[in-house]
Amino acid sequence: MIWIGDVLVSPGEGGVYGERMLDGYRVWDPYRSKLAALYVLGTGVDLRPDMRVLYLGAANGTTVSHVADYVETVYAVEIAPRPMQDLLEVAGRRRNVVPIMADAGRPGEFAPFMEAVDLIYQDVAQPDQVAIAERNLPFLKPDGCLILMLKTRSVDVRRDPAEVLEEAREELGAHLIVVETRWLEPYHRDHAALVCAARR
Ligand code: SAM
Repeated sequence: MIWIGDVLVSPGEGGVYGERMLDGYRVWDPYRSKLAALYVLGTGVDLRPDMRVLYLGAANGTTVSHVADYVETVYAVEIAPRPMQDLLEVAGRRRNVVPIMADAGRPGEFAPFMEAVDLIYQDVAQPDQVAIAERNLPFLKPDGCLILMLKTRSVDVRRDPAEVLEEAREELGAHLIVVETRWLEPYHRDHAALVCAARR
């Protein structure tokens, strides 16, 4: 990852969503991106130029655009038409973003456009977030990683967030090695990241 002092940046063309520029790099703001928050908190999976990424819950492409600055290809899946319009704009300005309008919970719908990936990044804020991630694991390379941004309130607003996180950790642990869990405070409330590695 590229840091200028303690500021996380990415090496792409600016002007995507009004982001600040610093020494010619795009500032990647941890308050606007959960993935940036994870890096600023000192963890995450380093993004490399040879990586292929499946991004579930792309929204309007804010975080997608930064990931695309670092990696070879981003397959960006989004279900909602309005953010999809913005995502298409982002993809139009970057040769390595493949926008896919589909339900991340139905990977069979987009499997024909996919190849094996090094990283699955998921940020869908749905009650069945963990199940959605599991359904996409067949796309993951044997040495790949998953980063799941768990919005505990979306799973069940009445339950203790720590309990929801523990349950997600156990469920994912049946398929993957859960390397780390991390709450994203103070950048994002009620969100935890689960960083997982494939079992070879
Ligand atoms: N990751 C984005 C970013 O950092 O810029 C923000 C994602 S936003 C919290 C969640 C997004 O997931 C929304 O745009 C929503 O439409 C999308 N989403 C929710 N359920 C989905 C599904 N089943 N398949 C694909 N996208 C989904």
